[in-house]
Amino acid sequence: MDTASIGAYDDVRTASRALATEAVHAGRDDLARQGLHAPPIDLSTTYPSYDSRTEAARIDAFATDGADPIGPPVYGRLGNPTVARFETALARLEGTEAAVAFASGMAALSAVLLALPIPGGTRHVVAVRPLYGCSDHLLTAGLLGTEVTWTDPSGIADALRPDTGLVMVETPANPTLAEVDLRSVARACGSVPLLADNTFATPVLQRPAEQGARLVLHSATKYLGGHGDVLGGVVACDEEFAGRLRRIRFATGGVLHPLAGYLLLRGLSTLPVRVRAASENAAELVRRLAADPRVSRVHYPRIGGAMIAFEVHGDPHEVISRVRLVTPAVSLGSVDSLIQHPASISHRIVDADDRREAGVSDRLLRLSVGLEDVEDIWADLNQALGTSPNRPTATTNHAVVGAGR
Ligand SMILES: *Cc1c(COP(=O)(O)O)cnc(C)c1O
Repeated sequence: MDTASIGAYDDVRTASRALATEAVHAGRDDLARQGLHAPPIDLSTTYPSYDSRTEAARIDAFATDGADPIGPPVYGRLGNPTVARFETALARLEGTEAAVAFASGMAALSAVLLALPIPGGTRHVVAVRPLYGCSDHLLTAGLLGTEVTWTDPSGIADALRPDTGLVMVETPANPTLAEVDLRSVARACGSVPLLADNTFATPVLQRPAEQGARLVLHSATKYLGGHGDVLGGVVACDEEFAGRLRRIRFATGGVLHPLAGYLLLRGLSTLPVRVRAASENAAELVRRLAADPRVSRVHYPRIGGAMIAFEVHGDPHEVISRVRLVTPAVSLGSVDSLIQHPASISHRIVDADDRREAGVSDRLLRLSVGLEDVEDIWADLNQALGTSPNRPTATTNHAVVGAGR
């Protein structure tokens, strides 16, 4: 490879390739002509240059607009060619101009918040609950100088202030799978950037940028990686905001490791197949859970997906203690099924009243459905649910199935 800019290695920008094609080719279009098949992993922390005048000019250019330096990278914190392949591929899948990768989903959200203007000394954010527990905490605690106004989707327009820098939603939301109508929310935002956390849906089920979200956030740790062995985060957005994020990343250092970049790029290649297969399993489990007298409510979003939330009549801690095939662990989006109790784990850090008000009941369990045979998952869930607490099935409320929260 000659000294092209880090991100622009002869990317064949065919106007319309299907998502499944992009998943296996985007970010890799130059490989065959280089005589390569698997993407190279570049572990360099620094890059030699005998021309320090040009090097200075490239650093100036980066400092001005955060554009990828022309020529080889200067230093690992400015960019990395392996990570750039993942960024290119994710941007193609989300249909955005650019994407910027970080060490984790929380590092990605932190960079977005740090990139906001601070007109009156604070960063005003309007947000809709529920959000992932740590996202809620980061906004609420004000660690990065945020002041947050929580509202329903219908209240966003009224909650905006002249100094509002960001509107943040998750859809489907973690952990209740509540859905937000992105188009109408984007209209309500006007010129204020809308950030949609697309971790649960992935670009296979939903592309928020097409519906008006300026920023699309992923915990790449989940479905993008898909195998429970890599932490990462990424923001897909326009080139102008990407430049701001790259400069924040350069200054604060939350970079994605090149090995993680490699694993995430590999994860993307099977993303459509994994999401579809796991979603089929999930849809079948939703049917069985909704008909089960031991289960009081099932939450499953209209757009589908592989995440299910359900409330039990009995003790949710007992269910967690009894699973054998399904792994009792936080996180989600792996090839194997995981279950956890949000009130104890993923959303523990959120104030209990705020949590319950957002629909996160103490009886709620969150299940990330994997690629096992659905009969084996059901056999495990069935024994973990234990004996029926002897309640009339007529009181079972299944109204939420297919209706989000
Ligand atoms: C896990 C998660 C995050 C945080 O991502 P990390 O990679 O764990 O830092 C953010 N948003 C959602 C919806 C998540 O599920």
